[in-house]
Amino acid sequence: MNIVDAKVIVTCPGRNFVTLKLTTEDGISGVGDATLNGRELAVASYLRDHVCPLLVGRAADQIEDTWQYLYRGGYWRRGPVTMTAIGAVDVALWDIKAKVAGLPLFQLLGGRSRVGVTVYGHANGGSIPELLEEVARYLDAGYRAVRVQCGIPGIDSTYGVSGDKLFYEPAHGARPAETTWSSERYLHFIPKVFDAVRVKHGFDFHMLHDVHHRLTPIEAARLGKSVEEYALFWLEDPIAEELQEGFRIIRRHTTTPLAVGEVFNSIWDCHLLIAEQLIDYIRTNATHAGGVTHVRRIFQLADLHHVRTGSHGATDLSPVSLAASLHIDLSVPNFGIQESMRHSGL
Ligand code: MG
Repeated sequence: MNIVDAKVIVTCPGRNFVTLKLTTEDGISGVGDATLNGRELAVASYLRDHVCPLLVGRAADQIEDTWQYLYRGGYWRRGPVTMTAIGAVDVALWDIKAKVAGLPLFQLLGGRSRVGVTVYGHANGGSIPELLEEVARYLDAGYRAVRVQCGIPGIDSTYGVSGDKLFYEPAHGARPAETTWSSERYLHFIPKVFDAVRVKHGFDFHMLHDVHHRLTPIEAARLGKSVEEYALFWLEDPIAEELQEGFRIIRRHTTTPLAVGEVFNSIWDCHLLIAEQLIDYIRTNATHAGGVTHVRRIFQLADLHHVRTGSHGATDLSPVSLAASLHIDLSVPNFGIQESMRHSGL
């Protein structure tokens, strides 16, 4: 059963999602998300110009072999553009395999390990009172886990706090915003935010927070230590993640759980973090880290070292990506939590 057509589709109301659609000679098609937000067209070109011609005529059922062919055969390994392109091929091939088998994908990955997937939503407010109302809305809607982000007094705009309560893009399109930032103001204010949320809404839900790579290792260590009493589910992206060794400093000082990995694209970005147990949750997802095949490899390494999963799932990823993540979440033994935002009805 060979692939006869590979099509790259760049479209979505109001933004670009990049979707790869593969079709076999039997007329079965599968889709994969190839959206690298802010750099969408780079992946579209990588797929159209370099990958699609390799796929036509290739057996659709050899998923691992095709993964290795694209990863090793291209000589240039890793990187977000390459790994997002490979990820889209991989997810589309798993989609085809599941359709051929007549089974949901999670059955091919070993079947259910749980009856459902805990997701967390994003509550953000320009001020503490506004945030408390947003948290209430999520708890009333039945969410058991909520990420809390709050505007910081004295800083004009704060990452993760947008006017739009539904959608959120961790990377800002083709023209990144230039903003001011003060770690001092942030470190002084954010414990008050967690305190207000726990005083108002209690401890009977998971509270998460994202630092968006803003701190140095010793600042992050100080933050983690200063908020231990608020029992965060996780502190996300406390520092820039390319320096894996930096997490040793944070770990030495705090028991606040750490989550990282939404910008990682391969196991080589996080093997030290996992093997040294410097993090508690790994946030790679199928779209940006080489598809179901490679994310499962990362999650299996994580399981060996008691690190749980917490895949990225903001609205910078298409619904196809979320579908792939949910199948992985249902099947892996070390599932932690899944980020989930709401796409528009369109
Ligand atoms: Mg994040």
